[in-house]
Amino acid sequence: MIKLLRLILPPARSFVPVAALFAACAFGASDVRAQSRTIVIDPGHGGHDRGGVPGQRISEKQMTLDVSQRLARILEASGYRVVMTRNSDVFIPLGTRVATGNSYRGATFVSVHFNSAQRAGANGIETYYYRGDSGGLAANIHRHVVAAVPTENRGIRRRGFYVLRQTRVPSVLLELGFLTNPREGSLAMNAAHRQRLAEAVARGIRRQPPPATRGLVAGSARSADVLAPTIRGHDVVYPAPRPPRRSQARYYRSSRSHRASDRKRAGSSKRSGTTSPRKKKKKSRR
Ligand SMILES: [Zn+2]
Repeated sequence: MIKLLRLILPPARSFVPVAALFAACAFGASDVRAQSRTIVIDPGHGGHDRGGVPGQRISEKQMTLDVSQRLARILEASGYRVVMTRNSDVFIPLGTRVATGNSYRGATFVSVHFNSAQRAGANGIETYYYRGDSGGLAANIHRHVVAAVPTENRGIRRRGFYVLRQTRVPSVLLELGFLTNPREGSLAMNAAHRQRLAEAVARGIRRQPPPATRGLVAGSARSADVLAPTIRGHDVVYPAPRPPRRSQARYYRSSRSHRASDRKRAGSSKRSGTTSPRKKKKKSRR
């Protein structure tokens, strides 16, 4: 009899998706709400990829994992289902991270990073999004984080980082301070500070009303790096105006020697194989 049942009925494991499908049909909107309580946390870098700039003292991959694990514990305690793209010091390709985010329908993808710069003075919090449906979430998380930590507000920015462009669910990328800045670096080394960061991010994800935040730090209201935002606010960074285009007449007025040197440049860049567009592309793959 059991043998016969086994032939008719699929193995017990395959009941789970069938049951989930049935629940989705039966409960409609409420089920969609339940699914959106899945948060995919993506701790930046890992394994051979330490993150940051070469020679950076504090390893970004450790800080991102620690804050992500704290965030996971807080969200799980609030009833969220949490999926981590990595939970140890391993290298996970960006495509795999995105695939994890995309495999949970209705999930929210949160990529956790710390910033770095050659200039030690650079400091503050930046929050990135790309998809139009992610601006509100980015703004909410950003405002909670800025209010929670004693640093500068560098604004909410729209940019096409790989993990933001390729996710088919709402997605944000957080830059929770500059590890290359002496003050923010030592803050990040402090467990209580990392816990404060995780709690602020969690408040943003839970869509708790954000407190009033400080204005943008001087000079960050416009940036050449960002795309036109889909949201508005006192803390949104707008694209810098493009420099005026050289008129065609001026462009074609180049002398013969100019054209010769242009050809020479084109040839040499092909040979060296390290053109600046490629560098730019690599940088945008976070
Ligand atoms: Zn990073």
